[in-house]
Amino acid sequence: MKRVLTLGLFGLASMGLMAQDIVLGDVRLAKNIVVMIGDGTGLAQWWAAQSARPDSALAVFRISDAMGLSMTSSASNFITDSGAGATAISTGEKTQNRMIGVGPDSMARETLLEFYKKQGKSTGMVVTCGLTHATPAAFYAHVPSRYMDKEIAEQFYNGSVDVAIGGDYPLYSEKWLKKAGYSVAIGLDDILETDCPRFVGFYSKDKEVPPMSQGRGDFLTASTKKALSVLSRNDTAGFFMLVEGSQIDWGGHANDLNYTVEEALDFDRCIEAVLDFTRNDGQTLVIITADHETGGLSLVNYETDSTRSVGAWSTHEHTGIPVPVFASGPGSSLFIGTYQNSDIYYKIRAASGLMSEEPKSQVPFDPSVHHGDIH
Ligand SMILES: [Zn+2]
Repeated sequence: MKRVLTLGLFGLASMGLMAQDIVLGDVRLAKNIVVMIGDGTGLAQWWAAQSARPDSALAVFRISDAMGLSMTSSASNFITDSGAGATAISTGEKTQNRMIGVGPDSMARETLLEFYKKQGKSTGMVVTCGLTHATPAAFYAHVPSRYMDKEIAEQFYNGSVDVAIGGDYPLYSEKWLKKAGYSVAIGLDDILETDCPRFVGFYSKDKEVPPMSQGRGDFLTASTKKALSVLSRNDTAGFFMLVEGSQIDWGGHANDLNYTVEEALDFDRCIEAVLDFTRNDGQTLVIITADHETGGLSLVNYETDSTRSVGAWSTHEHTGIPVPVFASGPGSSLFIGTYQNSDIYYKIRAASGLMSEEPKSQVPFDPSVHHGDIH
């Protein structure tokens, strides 16, 4: 039955009808979209977090609508970086490692966030890293290298993001943000008090957002709830939002399982808040996935006394293993199966009833697909 409905969704989607007008049986198209990326979060990272909370299922594991697997290779490498990984999801095209919002030819590609902004939706992002870091940048900037952080910050002033919350305060100019129509909030208290429909919230005036172990507290979940309440005021067209648990990846690079677990649990609390917010409206598609796995983590033992799994890492870098995709809400059945990371873009477009004019699943099923051999 679900398959039939899925085909129906595609059929209706290709007719170009507006998302909020379509109801198929009890299945709606997605008016709102929340993409949640746990940077570097493979199944082992999720299971290590679950093992630390043995009494109840994590929010991510309570999702029963749909699960899939995303193949993460980039256009240049079997093992992607976060720039190419996020760009594949944000533009529907695999690109070269280190690139942000551009194709392998270095030319800009429209991102999902920019597309939905043009459609009249409100747009937002909440991250636990700098706002110029690879994952958030891949949704609003277009540069050939993720290390061009000043250019990335400058492209933010184009204004495609309505609400942005994260770090990197020193890279942005308050003057230019205000010129671009944003109010600026610094610190969580200030962020929560802001009442503007367009604002940028910084964790502090520092560049970095600290890890959970250094007192970040409820920043991610509280900021995400705030962004949801502001963006959802756009009752007519809906909203598109990116949330990133950015530092799960950093725990992996450090081969520090406690770091990974604390960050994954924080991200899961945020997932729970998003699902609570969207559960009853029946109009919001929530996608939870990763850009890649980090650390080659496996779980080789479990310490009952400390309720901690024991990890074994195989690298300090990213790995090429597919990552889980969890989907909840209208159109979620599109995310069942095994597919390329770039297909997530088209699945989201289809779920919202706004297909690409040239729908393409351009990369065949090939676990090692990439066009070059630059390692
Ligand atoms: Zn990384």
